[in-house]
Amino acid sequence: MNEMMLKSVKGKILFKEMLSGHTSYRIGGPADYYITPKDVEDIRTILEIAEKQQLPWFVIGEGSNLLVSDTGFRGIVLDLSKAFNQIDSRGTEMTVGAGVLLWDLLRYCTEFGLTGLEQLTGIPGQIGGGVVLNAGAFDEEIFSTIQSVKFISPTGIIETRDREDIHPGYRKTDLPKNIVILEIELALRNGNPAEIQMIQKEILKKRRDKQPLSLPSAGSVFKRPSGDYAGRLIEEAGCKGLRIGDAMVSRKHANFIVNVHLASALDVMRVINEVKERVLAKSGVMLEPEIHFLGFDQPEKG
Ligand SMILES: Cc1cc2nc3c(=O)[nH]c(=O)nc-3n(C[C@H](O)[C@H](O)[C@H](O)COP(=O)(O)OP(=O)(O)OC[C@H]3O[C@@H](n4cnc5c(N)ncnc54)[C@H](O)[C@@H]3O)c2cc1C
Repeated sequence: MNEMMLKSVKGKILFKEMLSGHTSYRIGGPADYYITPKDVEDIRTILEIAEKQQLPWFVIGEGSNLLVSDTGFRGIVLDLSKAFNQIDSRGTEMTVGAGVLLWDLLRYCTEFGLTGLEQLTGIPGQIGGGVVLNAGAFDEEIFSTIQSVKFISPTGIIETRDREDIHPGYRKTDLPKNIVILEIELALRNGNPAEIQMIQKEILKKRRDKQPLSLPSAGSVFKRPSGDYAGRLIEEAGCKGLRIGDAMVSRKHANFIVNVHLASALDVMRVINEVKERVLAKSGVMLEPEIHFLGFDQPEKG
């Protein structure tokens, strides 16, 4: 890349930034450019540079649903956590920057007595990532409160898409793939802060009881196959405790693959493939990953 072009970027630019520091797995090699844009204009500039230089780019949230390859990413990673972290509310309606942590949003809702998102308590990540994944838990999905999503396309055009024109599914939406989500409009309901807090505490307890939260992971690795549970199938295939290198199928929750110490992305990939093969052989179900992957289909050296 012609690095002179980066002079027009106002935000912070890091070179060869290790993505292991930006993923919940604590795994991932270097990104050639790790940029924290200052505003929308900055994003537009970066997308323009990427287009001119034919460089791949990727938006990272909290990296809590992401496996990054050991060789990293030959391109630009965009981090929205600094400039897109505002919450504005007008009664029960809110405008939330894509980089806001789900956790902070829930805290805000508790403080102002806004109900509708409690079931999502304890899901790590930013609201932008939550929208992409239609994050959900305990029969609630983030899209049940969304009114519209504002995003910028690679050509720099900003669009606001209303909820009626988005079709969210299980851990996915039909929003265009190569966009940067900027802002989300939510509509919640008035509630009682004490009750909201109580529900949140119950949900957190359920999570602590069921999930291996003391080790790095990306949450559930596989999507729920129709009519069944990935965790049940994985357990039935005898995979609990299956370990390759430092990646292991959790004994507490079979759909979690945890980083026991210093797992590589390759270790995790090998466990994923082994689990898929064993489940297919045992029950005839082809499991589909829920987590996203970065940097696995690129040349090793930048
Ligand atoms: C312990 C644990 C428990 C979990 N429990 C749950 C759960 O109960 N339910 C659930 O749904 N998930 C769960 N997850 C997974 C994860 O937390 C969610 O999917 C979360 O919404 C991902 O958000 P993120 O910001 O970390 O996204 P990332 O992992 O950083 O990115 C995920 C995808 O979203 C894209 N993306 C992120 N931000 C933007 C943006 N602004 N614009 C465009 N694209 C963007 C990325 O490019 C990537 O493709 C869990 C994870 C962990 C570690």
